[in-house]
Amino acid sequence: MARIAVLPGDGVGPEIVRETVKVLRRIGALFGIPLTFDEEIVGGAAIDRCGTPLPPETLSLCRASEAILFGAVGGPQWDSLPVDRRPERGLLALRKELGLYANLRPVKLFAPLVDASPLKREIIEGVDLLVLRELTGGLYFGEPKGIGPAPDGKGEQGIDTLSYTTFEIERIARIGFQIAAQRRKRLTSVDKVNVLASSQLWRRVVAETAREFPDIELDHMLVDNCSMQLIRDPRRFDVILTENTFGDILSDEAAMLAGSIGMLPSASLGDGPGLYEPIHGSAPDIAGQDTANPLATILSAAMLLRHSLRHESAAAAVEAAVGLVLEAGYRTPDIRQPGPTTLIGTAHMGDLVVERLSNTAIH
Ligand code: NAD
Repeated sequence: MARIAVLPGDGVGPEIVRETVKVLRRIGALFGIPLTFDEEIVGGAAIDRCGTPLPPETLSLCRASEAILFGAVGGPQWDSLPVDRRPERGLLALRKELGLYANLRPVKLFAPLVDASPLKREIIEGVDLLVLRELTGGLYFGEPKGIGPAPDGKGEQGIDTLSYTTFEIERIARIGFQIAAQRRKRLTSVDKVNVLASSQLWRRVVAETAREFPDIELDHMLVDNCSMQLIRDPRRFDVILTENTFGDILSDEAAMLAGSIGMLPSASLGDGPGLYEPIHGSAPDIAGQDTANPLATILSAAMLLRHSLRHESAAAAVEAAVGLVLEAGYRTPDIRQPGPTTLIGTAHMGDLVVERLSNTAIH
C-alpha cells in the first residue's frame, strides 16, 4: 500500500490538488496500484489554524508517507507576517526537514500548445529540457541571514548568504549527470563564475564530477547568458544544472516555453519521500474561481508515479491523457489561444483527464 500525504495549502492549492487526487485514484484503480491518501494542513491554512506553517502532525505524516502531493502556499493575507513566520516557510522547512535537495523541473511543450506560448513556433516547437535546481543550499538557507543595523549607522542592512560546499555540489551534480544519461546526454551547468566565489567552487566540482560520466557532454554557462539563450534557442538545452536561486528564476522563465506556468510540474527528491508540486504559487488572484489550470499538478502526480512509486507505465498514461485532452482542444484560460478551442474550468479539466485515462490507459 502506498501512502500519499496530500497537502493542498492555500489559494488555488485545494482546487488543483482535488483534481489531481481524482486522477491518482483513477490510475490506482486502472493499474492496480493500492494508494491511500491522508490530508494535512500547511502554509497559511496551518498558520490560521495552529499558528505555524508546518505543524508537527503534517511533518510526521510526510515522514510516514511514500510521497507528498503539494498544492501551493501563500497569499496576501499573510504578507505582513515576519519572513520567518510566513506560509512559504512551511514549504522551505519541509524541503529542509526531508532533505529534498534535488528539484526536477521538466519543461516539455505539448504540441497542441505550440501557439499558446507568446514565443514564436519556430523557436519553441519540440522544446524538451529539464531544469535541475539545487534546493536546500544557497541564498535561501545560508547564514548569516536577517535584517539588522547598517554598519555605517544609517538605517538597516539586509543580509543573505550564498554558500555551497563540495558535498552539496557533488551530490546534485551526480543526479544531473544521471538524469542526462537517460535523456539526450547533454548537461549545461549554470553559474556566475565571473563574480561569485560559490560559483567558482561549483564549476570546479561539477567539472571534476563529470569525469565519472564520460558519455555526457558538459558545458558551462553564465546565468545571465542562460536566461537569454532560453528564449533565443531553447532547443539547445537538455539538462540545465544550477543552484537554488538561479534555478528558481530560470525555471519560471522556462515555464513560458511550455505555454503557461500552469503546465509545469516538479519533483523534489532526497533520500526519503519525494515531494511533488506545480512550480507555480497559490495564484490568489484566481483562487476560488474554478479557472486555475490543474495540469501542472496532475503532471506532478505523473512524476510521483515515476520517481516515488517506480510505475513508469502509469506515469506515461497520465501524461498521454493530458496530451489527449489538449489535442481535443480543451483549455483553461491561461492556455487559451485563438482557434477552435473550448474554454473550461479547473474541475472540468480534471474530469476530462480522468475520462481519457479510463478510455486509454489499459490498452
Ligand atoms: P503565482 O505562481 O501564484 O502566480 C503568478 C501568475 O500566474 C498569476 O497571474 C497567477 O494567476 C498565474 N497562475 C499561477 N498558477 C496558475 C494556474 N495553475 N493556472 C492559471 N494561472 C496560474 O505567483 P505569485 O503571484 O508571485 O505568488 C502568489 C503567492 O504564492 C505568494 O504568496 C507567493 O509567495 C506564493 N508562492 C508559493 C509557491 C509555492 O507554494 N511553491 C511558489 C511561488 C509563489
